Amino acid sequence: MRPELPLFGWTPDVDAFRLHFGTDAQCRAHVFLCRFRGRLVCPRCHGTAFRLTAHGAHCLTSGCSYTVSLTRGTIFERTRHTFLRWFKAAFYLRTIPRLSARRLATLVNVTYKCAYAWAAKIRVVLGTLLGPTRLRPLPRPVWPGSRLQGQDLRPTAADPEPSRTARRALAQRYSGHLSDKHLPRYLDEFAFDSALGRRLDALAVLLEALPAALPITYRSIVGPRPFRSRLELRLDAARWRRAFLGF
Ligand SMILES: [Zn+2]
Repeated sequence: MRPELPLFGWTPDVDAFRLHFGTDAQCRAHVFLCRFRGRLVCPRCHGTAFRLTAHGAHCLTSGCSYTVSLTRGTIFERTRHTFLRWFKAAFYLRTIPRLSARRLATLVNVTYKCAYAWAAKIRVVLGTLLGPTRLRPLPRPVWPGSRLQGQDLRPTAADPEPSRTARRALAQRYSGHLSDKHLPRYLDEFAFDSALGRRLDALAVLLEALPAALPITYRSIVGPRPFRSRLELRLDAARWRRAFLGF
């Protein structure tokens, strides 16, 4: 496992985060509280005191070996990383504008694939916090940036043309490369961030929801593996052999 890096930056946001979630014990306690709302009772001995370890809560009654996982059945399912690292990722994603997965990978010291998956999973959770009316693109064929529907975002005094603002923000954030597959999630992220003006407010809402969020698999984010028939694979192998081995 790659070592944990210290928090990046010297802003008041970083100080506030360090105060509340600076250690893994603090993050663990937060996950425990959000997950069970202080109502966890041991089914064996009816004890209510628990000791928290990396990803579990152990009953404190002497002689009772009851343990409950803090990750199973949640977005953290089967993670090898600490809650602290997850929380840091959520913090960077909400407080650093236009943060790419590649940069996130460097900041929290995980692989690119992992950072990409975390960012996408967190985006899915943000989507679950929004109301039923969403900003959604018009169907093809139109230029991607122009596919946002105006009527889904209500104009306010501060922003009379919200769909235009969304379009501009997305163009800045993703430099024009937005696939149809991921566009709805990015729109949810935009709606979430603009609904909660202060970045730390957005983070607080997200961290409250994260421990209770359902598991999301990597496959559900990137889509199913493309199906390839046996014949296709054999043809590929033959082509490869001809090109590189010469027979
Ligand atoms: Zn017990």
